Amino acid sequence: MATDLFQSPDYYQLDELLSEEHLLVREATRDWVKKEVTPIIEDYAQRAEFPKHIVNGLAEVGAFGPYIPQEYGGAGLDQISYGLMMQEIERGDSGVRSTCSVQSSLVMYPIYKYGNEEQRKKYLPKLASGEFLGCFGLTEPDHGSNPGGMITNFKDKGDHYLLNGAKMWISNAPFADIAVVWAKDETGRIHGLIVERGMEGFTTPETHNKWSLRASATGELVFDNVKVPKENLLPNKSGLGAPLGCLDSARFGIAWGAIGAAMDCYDTALRYAKERIQFEKPIASFQLQQKKLAEMITEITKAQLLTWRLGVLRNEDKATSAQISMAKRNNVDMALKIAREARQMLGGMGISGEYSIMRHMMNLESVVTYEGTHDIHLLITGMDVTGIPAFK
Ligand SMILES: Cc1cc2nc3c(=O)[nH]c(=O)nc-3n(C[C@H](O)[C@H](O)[C@H](O)COP(=O)(O)OP(=O)(O)OC[C@H]3O[C@@H](n4cnc5c(N)ncnc54)[C@H](O)[C@@H]3O)c2cc1C
Repeated sequence: MATDLFQSPDYYQLDELLSEEHLLVREATRDWVKKEVTPIIEDYAQRAEFPKHIVNGLAEVGAFGPYIPQEYGGAGLDQISYGLMMQEIERGDSGVRSTCSVQSSLVMYPIYKYGNEEQRKKYLPKLASGEFLGCFGLTEPDHGSNPGGMITNFKDKGDHYLLNGAKMWISNAPFADIAVVWAKDETGRIHGLIVERGMEGFTTPETHNKWSLRASATGELVFDNVKVPKENLLPNKSGLGAPLGCLDSARFGIAWGAIGAAMDCYDTALRYAKERIQFEKPIASFQLQQKKLAEMITEITKAQLLTWRLGVLRNEDKATSAQISMAKRNNVDMALKIAREARQMLGGMGISGEYSIMRHMMNLESVVTYEGTHDIHLLITGMDVTGIPAFK
């Protein structure tokens, strides 16, 4: 990729709503992404390889557990700082942001919230430092949008649990050191279990041939009579609400992250349109291209306002799951539409890896599906406003 010339749009002077700390966190993450992610990410995506060497850097900028208390190795930041970090990292690549979301919100968060003190001390500092990478196993081959139907299960064998089943589409699975796995007990109640690489009967085959999130590794989790020590069960919450609580936290980060991808596409298209000459004029001078840019910046600004307000609500512990759903759905859809329009504005160059747009566009096809599909989030809003679930 060419030099990273990214300039962040702030059409409504939203920086005035941010604290000194927010701005510092954002600048530090942005600088790090410019130095360590954008120069290399296209090559890794083309090769469908996760850039493992950036894990230490991600840990150093605080992207693993930004809001986890410092006593457990986290950065102890607020929700808006967490969001801004995800925005900047996804500006680089949605796959890299996915790794951070999984590590922070789907692995560290459940251990912090639902684990006991021993589990927190054992795992959180290693996850925060990047010594351990984690993954989150909820989706199964036959249960995606409806995780409550899962068949992965464990039986109490006295001194251990015996785990059987399989998970699919699991980010980070191929190299994860630990997996937070959701499985049913003998009464059908869902619990979280920490499964460690090396446990007999536990394998993590990689999923190949993805056209999306190519710089993020995806795989299966297969449990064939895995003996899980009893102390690996997360004791403080059970039921479907437990994994859904983790998803709230991750979806919040995705709502911010999608803005980063959209900003990168807009910024690239704006610069290109001013420089590209056709019919003796910059293409930015044509009304059709201006319409695209004007609509992009309008949608980015609306999304920024939505997430900023959601961040304030999260900081006050007042944000509802349905509010988070709305932001995830709106912002990812917004980013995907902007990526498609921006790609067109670059003409043939839009499909080239010399620019980030096509990679963002392909990545966002996963982001619009995982952590609750676009349609499922719409049903959540529908249920919230009518009081009537339309899932079944
Ligand atoms: C790259 C990638 C990474 C992922 N990482 C993880 C991970 O780390 N951990 C994890 O647990 N999962 C992960 N997932 C899985 C992801 O969360 C699921 O793919 C997603 O929840 C959708 O499930 P599904 O693919 O089984 O689709 P399905 O549930 O089969 O849905 C298919 C279609 O039917 C629609 N649909 C389903 N039910 C309804 C309904 N009631 N009404 C109307 N429409 C409906 C959906 O909106 C969708 O359009 C990942 C997925 C991808 C692609």
